Amino acid sequence: MIIRATAIPLACYPYSSTSQIVHWLTRYQGKVSTVLKGAMRPRSPFLGEYDLFSTSELLYFEKRTHTLHAGKECAMLHRRDRFRSDWRAMQAASYLTALINRTTPEEAPHPELFVLFDELLDLAEEYGRHTNFVPWAELQFSRHHGHTPHLADCVLCGSIKELRFCASQGGTVCAVCSRKHKLPMIDCAPDVIAMLQTWLRADHPAGPVKTQLTPRQSLALNAVMSTFMMYQFSLPPNLREKLFIQA
Ligand SMILES: [Zn+2]
Repeated sequence: MIIRATAIPLACYPYSSTSQIVHWLTRYQGKVSTVLKGAMRPRSPFLGEYDLFSTSELLYFEKRTHTLHAGKECAMLHRRDRFRSDWRAMQAASYLTALINRTTPEEAPHPELFVLFDELLDLAEEYGRHTNFVPWAELQFSRHHGHTPHLADCVLCGSIKELRFCASQGGTVCAVCSRKHKLPMIDCAPDVIAMLQTWLRADHPAGPVKTQLTPRQSLALNAVMSTFMMYQFSLPPNLREKLFIQA
């Protein structure tokens, strides 16, 4: 069966000297993998019709027996050129792409995830160079997956005294509970927790990217978000570190 799909590449690998395997997030079919035969040849019709961080229309033959399908045609719909010249924005887009690739199972349709990814890439073109963009995008991604961090009070007893962040509990835990249960905690001052709550409610990054963070706030915020993402989505720590080393 031939499928026509709106699709964004998640990863591209060489398959032979002239062909490529491309994993895509499609709007209605979920994550699919295709072989693009001859895609690396100089006069291939695939040339320039797909790229990381770009949205394309993809035509492929669906194989019933396995999950590697045969790409037939491809047409670029939205190239997102900014990522070619804005290196920091490209780093943010690259992290979001790796995040979606690692957390999305194959062939499980999830149209809302496609919409979110498409929108986050559009926003990353404009706001991705700001260091606050990725934590904001991570909060939106977590909310989308139903893993919103719990930040209002202690996850375990509801107290609002001396809250710290505990990734394994999915949010803030009070000093008493953290001692009682010997939980690994990240020190997180009330101003940082309040900032996370504000960013979580912000549907657009324009506000969050304007927030000026002190070095202490920036350190705490990134410690919280990197442990939270690692724990909730089983990410390797280096996925996010690469992004912030140069920040
Ligand atoms: Zn408690």
